[in-house]
Amino acid sequence: MLEISRTLLEEIRALAAAEPGREVCGLLFGDEDRITAYDPADNVAEAPERTFEIDPRALFAALRAERQGGPRLVGHYHSHPSGDVTPSACDAAMAEPGRLWLIVSGGDARLWQAGSTGALHGRFSPVTFKTCDP
Ligand SMILES: [Zn+2]
Repeated sequence: MLEISRTLLEEIRALAAAEPGREVCGLLFGDEDRITAYDPADNVAEAPERTFEIDPRALFAALRAERQGGPRLVGHYHSHPSGDVTPSACDAAMAEPGRLWLIVSGGDARLWQAGSTGALHGRFSPVTFKTCDP
């Protein structure tokens, strides 16, 4: 089962709680078994209170670093001020197959795999995970 660092999850929840009126977002790093690091990014969406767009400069910098042997980008996270940790139709419209999507809201967190098919919006499949130390 995929593991997420407990500290990472708590810190991302705290970032979301600090900005309850808008979606916060960032990048996730690790491998196929574990999400071990994250990097907050600016939400540059036009309506950040109900959608998100990761600052492309942060995304390209991470992809460049990965190519040069840096941490592997496995997906990204964002928050939903609504309280619902299900991907929205808007999320589905921009889902790139192959990435993990972590959605947090309040004390809740869910992980999704974006694909060319999926149970939700034809794009997302739920991924079970457990937290690990640290
Ligand atoms: Zn969303």
